[in-house]
Amino acid sequence: MGGSGAGGDRPKGVGPLIPPLTETQRPLRQQIFERIRAAGLIPRVTLARELDVSPASVTTICAELIEAGLIEEVAAPRDVESARGRPAVALGVRAASHLVAGMKLSDREHTAVIVDFAGNLVADEAVPRQPGPMTLDELLTAVETLLARVCTKAGVAPQALSAIGIGVPGFVDVAAGLVHWSSVLHERNIPLAAAATARIGVPVTIDNDANLVALAELWFGAGRGLSDFAVVTIEHGVGMGFVMNHRIFRGSGRLGMELGHTKVELDGALCRCGQRGCLEAYVADYALAREATTALNRPATDTLSINALLESLYDHAKAGNATARSIFRRAGRYLAVGLSNVVNLFDPELIILSGDRMRYDYLYAAETLAEMDNLAINSGRPRPKIEIHAWGDLLWAHGAAALALSVVSEHLLATQRDLAAQ
Ligand SMILES: [Zn+2]
Repeated sequence: MGGSGAGGDRPKGVGPLIPPLTETQRPLRQQIFERIRAAGLIPRVTLARELDVSPASVTTICAELIEAGLIEEVAAPRDVESARGRPAVALGVRAASHLVAGMKLSDREHTAVIVDFAGNLVADEAVPRQPGPMTLDELLTAVETLLARVCTKAGVAPQALSAIGIGVPGFVDVAAGLVHWSSVLHERNIPLAAAATARIGVPVTIDNDANLVALAELWFGAGRGLSDFAVVTIEHGVGMGFVMNHRIFRGSGRLGMELGHTKVELDGALCRCGQRGCLEAYVADYALAREATTALNRPATDTLSINALLESLYDHAKAGNATARSIFRRAGRYLAVGLSNVVNLFDPELIILSGDRMRYDYLYAAETLAEMDNLAINSGRPRPKIEIHAWGDLLWAHGAAALALSVVSEHLLATQRDLAAQ
């Protein structure tokens, strides 16, 4: 501790050096817009009270937001507060002002949704695909085809969209728009966001698919009212999205929260990422499939798809086949190791287990959860809630749409702020 410092030096100050207008100090304009979007419909007076600002500032900013077409006045149903006098007026997001698309690209199928500016679903579409990595050109063609189909359903031209969000598995830097590695792409370090924007002619933002499931839960699901929760996805790989203080936590280089590649065995099984002993190499479907081929005594030349193989393994386990059961049980034990590490590191309020594989209930059987309890620090408190959301890929696409919506609204709010500053 330096005391008062050398004589004549200017005091350097103490405390974190937080730049103005960071995530934690959003401008009032953005806070007001986000509060209106979250409420659905909200009177000005309630808005001012909830944000603890003067009704005059709310009125001024709301007038600007209405002028800019982001929100609108709606006749609200009369409630106790406004039982007398003029009809009550509430504020809501102007749903028709923008449409965005959200897409999820995966090994089994590509899914897409179109939502309006208030987050209402307008259309959805899913296209099955052959598993395996694609070239960038093949992937862009797949995006274009899927977009054309979902836009036809919605009755809009793709170029009428304000933004597109795309989720891909793997190591994705959302800020740089870069895919460092993905199981759906042959090449590494692909500037996918720029390439897709150039091909489609609409701004495209990309993110890791597990982050988008967490975003979907935060915007539309069980996480709306929670400040800190985890979503662990088990599909072709194992992913995690973590919400910290109501925001997706990404890490300094946007590559954080790779739960699937945390190590659970030194020199263990080989993972798709090229390293050994990753959680994913014991829990993901290709790990189960590797053992299933042996357990079900299938020839090495078997052409059964991974899905069919796992369905067969699951059927055998349910019918009492001890070997088939042991494969799911072992995967469940490794999953327990991973989840207990999440609990010990982050102390989340809720852990959501998501993804198609959660239909295989052996993965989260009572034994798995008991194992997790044994491995988590013993505080005497009950463990965090665990929920199973075996929703399909449409939820993931919804998360991608939420990403696109936040890109659009943040751009509009920033433009408005710059105009106001002139
Ligand atoms: Zn790995």
